[in-house]
Amino acid sequence: MRLSELKSGESGMIVKVNGHGGFRKRIVEMGFIKGQMVEVLLNAPLRDPVKYRVMDYEVSLRHAESELIEVLNQQEAEQWEREHEMDATPVPAGSDLLRRATEAKGHVINVAFVGNPNCGKTSLFNIASGAHERVGNYSGVTVDAKTGHFEQEGYRFNITDLPGTYSLSAYTPEELYVRRHIIEQTPDVIVNVVDASNLERNLYLTCQLIDMDVPMIIALNMYDEFLESGNKLDQDQLGKLLGVKLVPTVGRTGAGVEELFHHIISIYEGHGQFYRHIHINHGQIIEKYIDTVESLVRVNPEPHHNYSARFISIKLLENDKQIAQIISDFENYEDIIACRKRCQQDILNEMQEDSETAITDAKYGYVQGALRECFVNVHKNSHSRLMTKTIDSIVTNRYLGFPIFFLLLYLMFYCTFNIGQYPMDWIDSLVGWLGKSISNSNLLGDGPLKDLIVDGIIAGVGGVIIFLPNIMILYAFISWMEDSGYMARAAFIMDRIMHKMGLHGKSFIPMVMGFGCSIPAVMATRTIEDRKSRLITMLIVPLMSCSARLPVYIIIIGAFFAHHKALVLLGLYTLGILMSVLMARLFSRYLVKGDSSPFVMELPPYRLPSWKSVFRHTWEKGRQYLKKMGTTILVASIIIWALSYYPRYENSSDGEEKTSMVANSNELQMKNSYIGQLGQMIEPVIRPCGFAWREGVSILAGTAAKEIVASTMGVLYSQTDAETEQLDDEAADEARLSGILRKSGMTTLSALSFMIFVLLYMPCIPTCIAIKNESGRLKWAFFTIVYTTLLAWVCSTLVYQVGSMM
Ligand code: GDP
Ligand code: MG
Repeated sequence: MRLSELKSGESGMIVKVNGHGGFRKRIVEMGFIKGQMVEVLLNAPLRDPVKYRVMDYEVSLRHAESELIEVLNQQEAEQWEREHEMDATPVPAGSDLLRRATEAKGHVINVAFVGNPNCGKTSLFNIASGAHERVGNYSGVTVDAKTGHFEQEGYRFNITDLPGTYSLSAYTPEELYVRRHIIEQTPDVIVNVVDASNLERNLYLTCQLIDMDVPMIIALNMYDEFLESGNKLDQDQLGKLLGVKLVPTVGRTGAGVEELFHHIISIYEGHGQFYRHIHINHGQIIEKYIDTVESLVRVNPEPHHNYSARFISIKLLENDKQIAQIISDFENYEDIIACRKRCQQDILNEMQEDSETAITDAKYGYVQGALRECFVNVHKNSHSRLMTKTIDSIVTNRYLGFPIFFLLLYLMFYCTFNIGQYPMDWIDSLVGWLGKSISNSNLLGDGPLKDLIVDGIIAGVGGVIIFLPNIMILYAFISWMEDSGYMARAAFIMDRIMHKMGLHGKSFIPMVMGFGCSIPAVMATRTIEDRKSRLITMLIVPLMSCSARLPVYIIIIGAFFAHHKALVLLGLYTLGILMSVLMARLFSRYLVKGDSSPFVMELPPYRLPSWKSVFRHTWEKGRQYLKKMGTTILVASIIIWALSYYPRYENSSDGEEKTSMVANSNELQMKNSYIGQLGQMIEPVIRPCGFAWREGVSILAGTAAKEIVASTMGVLYSQTDAETEQLDDEAADEARLSGILRKSGMTTLSALSFMIFVLLYMPCIPTCIAIKNESGRLKWAFFTIVYTTLLAWVCSTLVYQVGSMM
């Protein structure tokens, strides 16, 4: 609990003191040290300050201050002991118990990983916590904070993997997020992960962390590449200059991680001789104005316990709106703001540069200066750098770039189909065998239960499960492109086109991720700095054909377009892309206001993806897919089966006639069932697209998850299966499938129109929820539903009507 929560007369033992360095120092000097008892003399609600007794002194603290001190009282200590089963040893009485629990609780260290995108934070996080978070070779893979735990040397670490940032200004959501995490969650130690092969840019962020005056350590990651480059770095010297300990690590193998955490413990316990708070020197002129602003900030008795006065002052000079907001309740707020304005003007006059740029330049200057002292660049073009250059000159070539890109996409789809065909056939015959043996066995008597299992569960779930190999292959390709660094190049060559769409090169990555699943893709839009581009990207991501729609294409293409499989598939994906381009242009012109700002595209060096990582991501996706099978799709299949099974259609004819009427009665059953009625209800609306009620039902069911379109088709068409089966038992599978579909009234044209509809119509509900969350407004989710469905209807109708005329 926090010290501020203790009531008058209560006492507790201090566990730790949070807040920035200056604040902690002052509090500790007052006697608030770990393991000391504090007694609350007077804590009147809402009354500041509160009086405490610590080390026999009376001290008063403000609420805001005592909130940053973690304490443990008797009750909590007992509870802690119970929870952690420490009662194996006899429970010591009174203050001994408190001491022991405090000790144990003090052995929990909260650690946060902060660093540039792509410096290996998630890799280190995974190694340390044993988690399997996504790593990728481009910025913005981690969009949320992930937490994990692990233990070492008797300490328990709660680790948080934060999104990558280049700076701690308040421009992008990530920057704000990371800053808020540092301030509000007050991690005990911050691990600043630094890409050792790109020190200059990475240390810029380090300087900002130093400004914040938070306990930290530097993980000098990618040390393997650094060694290979032949460059030399005097780590101890750099550590001394920055006042921060550096520990070399390799995120891929885990080398150095144990040592890293060893040093984290010593920093936490305060006997790391390395940590020392320094001031980044911004040069005489700027320092003078920082001091001027700081002196006004310091007029307030305790400016802020989480932000150091210096950090506030620097940020004010940088025009940081959030910090201005935070100090708005200072008594001399007006004075500070006026003073800032004067100082900014003076800086502009004296340096011919606005204060923000001047401060940024000064930090880079500081980093360069520090590196000049302890870093030797041998200018040896390392093997990997040379390779990167060579590959880049080809794949980002003005003429070759696009053909290579599309060739790769084609290859991806080709493999998805052709290699996927084999395992697909195996699963297919397995599912078929299972259905048949159950339906022929006498174990279950004829009746609803058997029908449920055969026509509902096996046909529904089985109808989707056979696409598992295709989806895994698709993901293996996407993973490989991401991990190798090619995806960033694809974004790069698309940048110009993206700009024409009113978007950003970076928008391209969420769009490609959309081929996998729209939900992470919508989340990945967070990495786009520009609000306008971000929103538009979010709105058009659902037009990228996600992998859940693949099964529908596979079924239909197999049945109707057997000779041009990959081509038709590529065509569909391309249509999705074209539509997204069109929509993006419309939206950026008419819907979303504001200009988009240009920014740098990162091109990370190529890295041969480790097979382990590609395999793991692929497997991870496969697992998620299987999980969906077992839950959403299973339930949906059962519901759809039930809706199509009831009410029972009574066949009045008897015995012999019945067999000959089987087909007919199935048809009638379906039509009169609840689902058939529902489908018929919407039929008038979708008739112009060339659909009948069956398509209508599939489309409706697909709003829960797009896979369900395919599983619904599995259920709906499996019931007409019976008759065709006998007719073309010997015929090829595809002919049989196409036979079934044709029997149900589908033509080549309406099949095409149906695929287009499935491609474009509203995203699944979970995606809509993601859009709502990411945009912060329900209205954008609704907008997406409406515009995509309209678009789907218009396109399908056009294709069908024009096609029918020809
Ligand atoms: P994050 O964006 O900071 O979370 O970085 P990731 O953990 O996603 O890693 C980015 C890329 O760098 C991935 O391809 C990793 O496999 C690779 N990587 C991470 N750490 C190291 C390292 O120490 N050495 C090398 N050579 N590669 C690494
Ligand atoms: Mg990451």
